[in-house]
Amino acid sequence: MTSRLDRLPLRDDLRGLTPYGAPQAALPVALNVNENTHAVPQDVADDILDSIAFALRDVNRYPDREFTALREGFAEYLGHGLTADQIWAANGSNEVLQHLLQAFGGPGRTAFGFAPTYSMYPLLARATGAAWIAGTREADYTITADAASSQVATADPDVVFLCSPNNPTGTPLSLDVIEAVYAASRGIVVVDEAYVEFAPHGTPSALSLLPGRERLVVSRTMSKAFAFAGARVGYLAADPAVIDALRLVRLPYHLSALTQAAATAALRHSDTMLRMVDDIVAQRDRISATLEALGYLPHESWTNFVLFGGVDDPADTWRRLYDRGILIRDVSIPHHLRVTAGTEDETTAFLDALASIDSEA
Ligand SMILES: *Cc1c(COP(=O)(O)O)cnc(C)c1O
Repeated sequence: MTSRLDRLPLRDDLRGLTPYGAPQAALPVALNVNENTHAVPQDVADDILDSIAFALRDVNRYPDREFTALREGFAEYLGHGLTADQIWAANGSNEVLQHLLQAFGGPGRTAFGFAPTYSMYPLLARATGAAWIAGTREADYTITADAASSQVATADPDVVFLCSPNNPTGTPLSLDVIEAVYAASRGIVVVDEAYVEFAPHGTPSALSLLPGRERLVVSRTMSKAFAFAGARVGYLAADPAVIDALRLVRLPYHLSALTQAAATAALRHSDTMLRMVDDIVAQRDRISATLEALGYLPHESWTNFVLFGGVDDPADTWRRLYDRGILIRDVSIPHHLRVTAGTEDETTAFLDALASIDSEA
């Protein structure tokens, strides 16, 4: 079939690519894109609304291009002695990663990640004209420092993505792997901590490795633990020189005044916004235990989702759950599916539906 796209003067390197496309269906139980399924608490929503209303009074003017208040808020939230000049933010961490690739990737360059990992890395890399190189993991999706550093040394990429913990597998990544990859590389090393708030309490962040490592970048998002996916706010911490590089590629005023106001207000309530994290972790562990009892093979997860193997026909199971009003994710790993930990009721609905499908089969 020749699509109308083929007849356009599209860039040759974009031909044949498929856009990101997690199904968005209005099902009663949506556990497919790792959102925090708990609503923003009313008192926080009210305060955010007040801040947006205040910002609206000046919406005839361009916003603060340097989003100063928001950067100060992130520096304070992250701790580790970070200051605002080490912080960057954009419309979702996807845009943060895009900025990194626009500055450090691009035509003739390469980006590297250990597959299976976040599906947006290759898409974002290729959209800037960079080639994607996929490294490998152990059978249980872990990565050892030795294997990681030798793969990175061989590939010699301009940008390395380390997803910690990893999506779509949930796998933790220890700091010694990050240190080894950094030492073995000459490029930018991006540690994507989108799910770090779901790791066991006291787990050290890659933020602790930033001092003295000017090519290291730690990215975060408000989309997952923070229950703010719809607002589109991601951020990173790095050496101030990296931040200067990102200023070269961002669109002027890329963060709207309304986004800045909403995110700054939400950050003031980080304790409340993050209150659900422990509940979600409890549901995640219940999912793993129940899946195991049902005969599936859940992988260790430090995130808000569980990847499980032992699924005879993932497309069929996915469809049967869909027919019962439950949306989960087929991440194209043979015999595997991925499910987000929801509220207790949503999690129960998923587990009950899966058990009923099994008893039918
Ligand atoms: C969800 C996710 C993100 C966050 O995306 P946003 O653009 O901030 O919503 C980043 N990295 C990984 C690995 C993710 O799973």
